[in-house]
Amino acid sequence: MFALIQRCCARQAPQQLPRLSNRQFSASVRQHAEAAEIKKLGVIGAGQMGLGIALVAAQKAGVPVTLVDNSQASIDKGMKFADKLLSKDVSKQRISQDDADAVRSKLSPTTDMDSLSEVDMVIEAVPEIVDLKTKIFSQLASICRSHTILATNTSSISITRIAASTTKDPNDLSASSRVISTHFMNPVPIQKGVEIITGLQTSQATLATAIAFCKAMGKIPSISADSPGFLANRILMPYINEAIICLETGVGTKEDIDAIMKNGTNVPMGPLALADFIGLDTCLAIMKVLHQEMGDSKYRPSVLLGKMVDAGWLGKKSGKGFYDY
Ligand code: NAD
Repeated sequence: MFALIQRCCARQAPQQLPRLSNRQFSASVRQHAEAAEIKKLGVIGAGQMGLGIALVAAQKAGVPVTLVDNSQASIDKGMKFADKLLSKDVSKQRISQDDADAVRSKLSPTTDMDSLSEVDMVIEAVPEIVDLKTKIFSQLASICRSHTILATNTSSISITRIAASTTKDPNDLSASSRVISTHFMNPVPIQKGVEIITGLQTSQATLATAIAFCKAMGKIPSISADSPGFLANRILMPYINEAIICLETGVGTKEDIDAIMKNGTNVPMGPLALADFIGLDTCLAIMKVLHQEMGDSKYRPSVLLGKMVDAGWLGKKSGKGFYDY
């Protein structure tokens, strides 16, 4: 798969890229393609990821951000959370009140997707549902300008598939070559890592711009191939899913499962607390993508995880998950 991506990128540029490791490939891209400047950012989805991305972009990269959500309630909740995070930074003397006010003034929340017509890059962070994301990307292709980078924060869905939704003609790469994944980690203001994934259609210029912008946000980019769950969730989600299976089959209590992993592997929280923090709907959606796309029963989502989502117990964001909040 990675060789294919290299071949595809090489086709779009005059240079012939030799066979490279991911690390060498990203270094080579940085050398060969020029990053465009992002003066205005758009973020779609004011949930925990979108809000964090918008806030860090305004604070660290210093860009104005148009934050779009189709729910006014989500916007209100997100902006309240942004105010809380900024007040905390002021009270801990990490930033001044003037800095906090300046960051806040850079965030423009709206329910109107058309306001993304002015931005240089969009980062989509709506729920992990294929049809929802592809619908949004096909809209973005007509709303945004011809240079706008179209990034997704998907946890597991194929970037090639999302890119394909921007056009009816697969040979027309004018929009699909600008699609890429910038997979930020949760919580965005704290986690330094960001996983960058290209689709088969993604151009080197798009990759170079995405890497440069993530760095401007203070993040450390890593490159993963466009394979279900990429790297982060290919490794993390089966771990969380196995912890839930251990709970449903009585191998341990929730407290013991979390305690042994927290105290035994020196992670900040156990897998069940982490699942609550990520959102159980997101965890289930990622496991379903891994299971369907890999066709391997080892990725079967836990029955208990499905039941928790059916009950509406989504973790921290709904007030109840494996723990009460
Ligand atoms: P979330 O449920 O907290 O937020 C999603 C937001 O999208 C909500 O505010 C919702 O109102 C909004 N939305 C839904 N449909 C919309 C539409 N049509 N137009 C505009 N806004 C719409 O979800 P999240 O946890 O922020 O996850 C968002 C994305 O980030 C998902 O793809 C997820 O897989 C990915 N992700 C999540 C985590 C995590 O730990 N939660 C980590 C990395 C990546």
